[in-house]
Amino acid sequence: MACSALRTGYRHLGAARSVVQGKRDMWKLLGKARYCTASNGDEVDRAKQATVESSRFRNKKPTIFSKIIDGTLPADILYEDSKCLAFRDVNPQAPVHFLVIPRFLLPRISQATSEHVQLLGHLLLVARNVAEQQGLTDGYRVVINDGVHGSQSVYHLHVHVLGGRQMSWPPG
Ligand SMILES: [Zn+2]
Repeated sequence: MACSALRTGYRHLGAARSVVQGKRDMWKLLGKARYCTASNGDEVDRAKQATVESSRFRNKKPTIFSKIIDGTLPADILYEDSKCLAFRDVNPQAPVHFLVIPRFLLPRISQATSEHVQLLGHLLLVARNVAEQQGLTDGYRVVINDGVHGSQSVYHLHVHVLGGRQMSWPPG
């Protein structure tokens, strides 16, 4: 299921395809490195564990996303600039499922202050632009998980964008 969704995603890559081509083999190696959205139970368990770890390290522990930012971990990158990058979720929950993350480490949306206004606006605009680039003309869902009840599993702020199918409401 996840694999066919991933292949569908690749078909939508279009212009980004050549950039991504070289990363594909390494990307396949990541198949088991699920970080954002596994089955529901997994996600909740890992979210709780992530919270324990983040409080132990005062939310400054490098995450899997830090490694994607510094290039030590490959990702299927769709867009990047000086402030953020967008890449496909390794375990997609929709035909199109990508994340937008700031390069700057802000662990949680609940820790944002007025000094992050521009950054937060930028993340949403990039989410919108990449959604358009991915052909999500019938709409999409934008999600930010925060903390335990939000099932946040990586303590580096990230915006989920999901599309290509009908979303239900309310979310679980
Ligand atoms: Zn997530």
